[in-house]
Amino acid sequence: MNKLLNKIFLSRITSLITFFLLLSLTACTTFNNAEKKATAILNVAAIDAVNGVRESIGVLILDGGGIAMVGNIEAGDFGGIKRDNLTIIDGSGKYLIPGLWDAHVHLSYTPGLDHETFFPLSIAHGVTSLRDTGGHLSLLAPARAAARLDPCSPDLYVSGPLLDGENRVYDGHSKSFPDLSVGLATPQQAREKVDELAAAGVDFVKAYEMLKPDVFAAIIDQASKHNLPIAAHTPLSMTASQAAMTGASDMQHLRNLELSCTSDTSGLLGKRQELLKSNQAPTAGALRSDIHKQQRASAIADQNDVACNELINTLHENNVYQTPTLTIARFMTRRLYAERYWQDTFKLVPPAIGEGWLARATKLSESQPDQAAMAFDAWVISMVSRLQSSNVPIMAGTDAPIGYLTPGASLHQELMLLVDAGLTPMQALQAATLTPAEFFGLANQQGSIDAGMKADLVLLNANPLEDIRNTQSIEAVIKNGHYLNQKELLRLRSLPATLDTRN
Ligand SMILES: [Zn+2]
Repeated sequence: MNKLLNKIFLSRITSLITFFLLLSLTACTTFNNAEKKATAILNVAAIDAVNGVRESIGVLILDGGGIAMVGNIEAGDFGGIKRDNLTIIDGSGKYLIPGLWDAHVHLSYTPGLDHETFFPLSIAHGVTSLRDTGGHLSLLAPARAAARLDPCSPDLYVSGPLLDGENRVYDGHSKSFPDLSVGLATPQQAREKVDELAAAGVDFVKAYEMLKPDVFAAIIDQASKHNLPIAAHTPLSMTASQAAMTGASDMQHLRNLELSCTSDTSGLLGKRQELLKSNQAPTAGALRSDIHKQQRASAIADQNDVACNELINTLHENNVYQTPTLTIARFMTRRLYAERYWQDTFKLVPPAIGEGWLARATKLSESQPDQAAMAFDAWVISMVSRLQSSNVPIMAGTDAPIGYLTPGASLHQELMLLVDAGLTPMQALQAATLTPAEFFGLANQQGSIDAGMKADLVLLNANPLEDIRNTQSIEAVIKNGHYLNQKELLRLRSLPATLDTRN
């Protein structure tokens, strides 16, 4: 007994020490002169989805975390703050945008690739908010604590585990399918689980693909009672239109939308339900991919514009957000992992993980993109521009670290892909700033550059509206009012590579 207590005590102490060590590594450093309570960026071009472009204005940022003034402040009116107490940044020729979101990440997917990697790499790449779309709260607890305590960490929004059917996909049976979920067989179980998650303080819930319609409906109903939005994979047992009308707030990967865009939706759905019932596959993951293999190609080959427009109208009327995650959707076709410049980003993650990624990516690069994946890719791309032109809200998310997606850097790939798919650079920025803030009902606090807003900002050296790749030319990141300069960003960028995750 004593031995056990000793062990628990030691492990507590060790985790406390690790925690404070980590905090001292990632926390805001001394760049911000303690006596200077604010930063003023003068003559900068401010760009956001609410105000458009404002050339050569001043933005006063408080160290306390908020934007105090936006406008003509170079005349010397710094809201009562003495000029000596300000860090003045010359913003001439520079561009200020709101801090970016990655609206689809998994901090507990790869053992050893957690917030200690995600947080510094995200901030170093201008990503100031993360939405974790599925993982057990016990594993996310250190990340949530660090996000709360360190003002220079990204804001972290969590759903807790994927709420899946009894036969669940992410059940831990292999490295590619770690345990990220709970299986819910009945509406009653679903309601209890949602209550439990709400009590644990989740920000939204995530409903997954193997749910039965009545269990899915119970999750949504119970989540609405707690005012929690619902990010969903459209369950295989229903159509995207049905999921939208049941109350899903946001859909991932555009997955299963193709089923609602064909001439024979009900025929395919019937077949799908049969396959789910007969359950011939060894795992839920295999069953799901069998269903996609059998149906996706034929659904895409038999596209019906009238049916698809109906679906898009339903999504619009029900204000259902879409997180297309093009970076992962194009895993088998665009093959980012096969590019040398992308493989270079593997050096940013802990070496044990980066080396594994490089080996597997190199091997995978030898195979050819498959035809079915190419057809689905083309369909997804065409769908993104249709959704955008019908004003269905789109969020930028990547699914990092799945598919060798380096945290932080991946979000810029997603922005590029959204523009390739037909969004304007401003619409792509909106997808990574204002829209996720709106999803959480936070648009009055962030997502635009206005007085009273949270000071999460990115200062760029080149105009992102001329070329979306310019979101990568980062001069500084401002997180909760803290101005992180080049030196600090470089330090954050190089931190995860020093982590030993081998044991
Ligand atoms: Zn995901």
